[in-house]
Amino acid sequence: TRAVVLFTSDLRLHDHPPLRAALAAADEVVPLFVRDPGVRAAGFDAPNRSAFLADCLADLDASLRRRGGRLIVRSGPVAREVGAVAAECDATEVHMAAAVTGYGHRREERLRGRLDAHGVALHVHDAVITAVEPGRVTPSGSDHYAVFTPYFRRWSAEPLREVCPAPRTVRVPDGVRGEPLPSRDALSGLSPGLPAGGEKAGRERFSRWVRSGMPAYEERHDDLADDATSRLSPFLHFGALSATELVRRARAHGGPGAEAFVRQLCWRDFHHQVLAARPEASTRDYRTRHDRWRGEAEAAEDIAAWREGRTGYPVVDAAMRQLRHEGWMHNRARLLVASFLTKTLYVDWRIGARHFLGLLVDGDVVNNQLNWQWAAGTGTDTRPHRVLNPVVQGRRFDPRGAYVRRWVPELRDVEDRFVHEPWRLPEDRRARLDYPEPLIGLSEGLARFAHARGRD
Ligand code: FAD
Repeated sequence: TRAVVLFTSDLRLHDHPPLRAALAAADEVVPLFVRDPGVRAAGFDAPNRSAFLADCLADLDASLRRRGGRLIVRSGPVAREVGAVAAECDATEVHMAAAVTGYGHRREERLRGRLDAHGVALHVHDAVITAVEPGRVTPSGSDHYAVFTPYFRRWSAEPLREVCPAPRTVRVPDGVRGEPLPSRDALSGLSPGLPAGGEKAGRERFSRWVRSGMPAYEERHDDLADDATSRLSPFLHFGALSATELVRRARAHGGPGAEAFVRQLCWRDFHHQVLAARPEASTRDYRTRHDRWRGEAEAAEDIAAWREGRTGYPVVDAAMRQLRHEGWMHNRARLLVASFLTKTLYVDWRIGARHFLGLLVDGDVVNNQLNWQWAAGTGTDTRPHRVLNPVVQGRRFDPRGAYVRRWVPELRDVEDRFVHEPWRLPEDRRARLDYPEPLIGLSEGLARFAHARGRD
């Protein structure tokens, strides 16, 4: 007997329930990845993520080859390609991770229709992409949690499934057609500091993190210059690491660092369950409707300055330059630049979210759009009117200015006390700096925000 395993956002061999179930049910298995033109059409194939994806696929193929198998890659509509592969190898069943997005659900339905028509069974497996699948825990009277803390309490009490080991051997039937793996080398426009992807790199990073990063995570995670977060987000995005395994291993390790890390992983599941219940929140305001944002035409110059890291607010500019250089940005910095764009420049959060998705190696609709909504005050933040002041935040989370100096070399020689407010330097020194004046006064920005929200 034969089965197909369709890999989507779960590009790994460790802790992979669909693969495990397929291997238990069939003698031969086709590990399949389909390059979906829908992803390209929706503009989600940004170069940085395509490069990381290419690494993940190469690594998955190498791991399968070590076990006697290989990865089959095809391009085309997913239902059509999976149906064709199942027919070519006479498979009686297809296994895949349960979808966790609206797009994924539509794809799953189309696939089910196609396979049903040919008498092939589709098995979808929960808790492959998230630790707790959307919809498993709900408050009474609603289909999802809109506030994080009560969700976290319930989520923490949920039993997690067992972690399954990577298979020892994978036998793939002969004669299944595949295409060459996509290559990172064929891509242009990549961020120069982009990390390498793949399950192997992810597992090594996680093991190092548990030993040397996680113990101090609680105290240090907000320190911008320290760079003390795990940087596991791209591996989680592509499923090169399993969220279930990470939660279990962190809990087994224990301590305040592990607890804080698990709490962040819960945010990921939290956003998944919000978007699964409210798919329209990827483009529309989730809670507080807000119609008066400034758009591209009205705020073109401010938006360009923000994108390019020349707003005149050092910590904002440092963060935006880090994003361009690494395809990644520290969480505290993401909050800051998102708050600045929406609540100080008063620009539509969708414009910022789009820019992030064009560069972030971990960029995904679920976490990106909902974090943007959180920062813009339209989403799940219970204090939607809070505004992060970039000077105060800079002093607090980058007290020596090391993060700013790393990314904004124009300010390298500025003393600590001026580094977040270079406009306070003596006139002659200020004039010699090749660094812009602030785009807008903070009080002016805040007044505009308050006014637009009808609060003054
Ligand atoms: P760590 O601090 O080590 O956290 C561990 C893991 O927990 C992360 O890898 C991530 O999977 C998860 N996590 C942490 N914080 C959050 C959060 N707030 N929401 C959801 N999951 C979280 N994260 C993405 O994965 N993709 C995105 O597109 C994305 N866009 C964002 C946009 C904005 C405006 C903001 C404020 C946050 C965004 N985040 C996004 C969340 C967060 O910034 C990143 O997950 C985190 O910075 C990744 O770095 P890390 O792996 O070192 O995180």
